Amino acid sequence: MTDYRRQGEMLDQQRLLDSNVTIIGSGPLANYTLCLLAGLGVGGIKILTQDQVTGFEKGEFLIRQDDLGRQKADCLEDRLSNINPTIRIRGRSIGPDVAFLGRPNVIVETTNDPKSKRAAAAIFASFTDCYSECEKLILASSDDNSCHVAVHGQGQRRVEDRIRRRRGEDQTYQEAYKEKRQGIVTSCIAASIVVDEIRKALHPLERDMPLETAVTFDWGTLEYHPGTPRILPGQPPTKYSRRALVVGAGGIGTYVALNLALSGIEELHIYDPDVIEPHNLNRQILYYEKIGEKKAATLAKRIFEMNPRIRAHAYDIAFGEEEARHLRQGMYTIMFSCVDSFSARKLLSNAAVRSQTPLVDGSVSAFDAFVDVYIPGITPCLDCRHDYTSLLALDNRPMSCADQDANVVMPNAMAAAMMVACSIHILNSDTDKPFATKRFIHASQRGDTHKFTWVPFMAEKDPIACGCLGGKR
Ligand SMILES: [Zn+2]
Repeated sequence: MTDYRRQGEMLDQQRLLDSNVTIIGSGPLANYTLCLLAGLGVGGIKILTQDQVTGFEKGEFLIRQDDLGRQKADCLEDRLSNINPTIRIRGRSIGPDVAFLGRPNVIVETTNDPKSKRAAAAIFASFTDCYSECEKLILASSDDNSCHVAVHGQGQRRVEDRIRRRRGEDQTYQEAYKEKRQGIVTSCIAASIVVDEIRKALHPLERDMPLETAVTFDWGTLEYHPGTPRILPGQPPTKYSRRALVVGAGGIGTYVALNLALSGIEELHIYDPDVIEPHNLNRQILYYEKIGEKKAATLAKRIFEMNPRIRAHAYDIAFGEEEARHLRQGMYTIMFSCVDSFSARKLLSNAAVRSQTPLVDGSVSAFDAFVDVYIPGITPCLDCRHDYTSLLALDNRPMSCADQDANVVMPNAMAAAMMVACSIHILNSDTDKPFATKRFIHASQRGDTHKFTWVPFMAEKDPIACGCLGGKR
């Protein structure tokens, strides 16, 4: 039985379980979107895709080697049923067709095929008069350079007018992605936004500000802007880390490992002492059918199944003082902090400075994702930024699981995707990025809809006194 208690009191799970979403497509963006929906616990999921499994497609991590020759709709139905056995999943081997769409509350078109997007838009428009429960049409696409999400609602205006009004814009982006392969990290970012918008449609909350314009995440600048994608010259950075350390295999850590594996990392070392518990499964979607087993070992095994070229090493222990002491320069190309305490963050920050290893830290709240980057000699260390010592008391607040802050899948996936995006830029020496003076925030609520920005930080401690000597200002 899936246990949604970590989603907290603010979400009425029954409301999500009673909702229906139809996903069109089976590429990387559909894979991520489906996982997030299953984690969130949307009760009725329909998958429409005509594709067949003809070989290994990068980024389609839900498809397995032994699926060769099968319909992707059937494979995705099987996999989603494993991830969350309590929801209703139906895969149909057909494109966007009104007869097979069911009665969804939201339709999401996830392919890079403009024809399929137009067909989905036509069906949504035809629903206006006869079926008002279908509230949103979300059109999403990605490639290696960017991702794009456009949300169409059924407001006061007739939907045909809205779609006609935006047709020029939509056609521009549809052409931009046509016949391009979908990206890995960009698909994860797009899926986080898509599922966040789905949640806002199915289960509105007081502070929600649903997305009203189309938005694009731009890989080159690591920023997000309204409107259509710019066609970027050249290719995104491709050089990838040989050996990464991932500390923490929880909500953020599973998506970091997944994105790293699909992006082509060679070697992954994962530390986590915990065993898998039922209340993890609403976020940590790779742990299905493994309750009671060790997180690190399970994650390493699932990652290896997706990409057998990876050397994935699992350590079923916390990354503690002893491990930190043994850290040497060059041992890891990059470190990822996916932990949930300030003491663990402090330990990792100090170890990163001592071993002169870049460190990317991710954290989440119920609706927000945060990423901090340390690059030796270029940025202040993370301890200087936050002064973790002053925050240690917060680690020891006594609380039961139910009292903990609510934790939903989308910010975890968003933080992890941005961490991996940042790491790829760091390893390609793109240090002109905002890392030295800013931290990344994605806020899904409050006044600014999808505030996806780099915010200046003030270091709490003096980097010169600290010895990390970063952030020369
Ligand atoms: Zn420092």
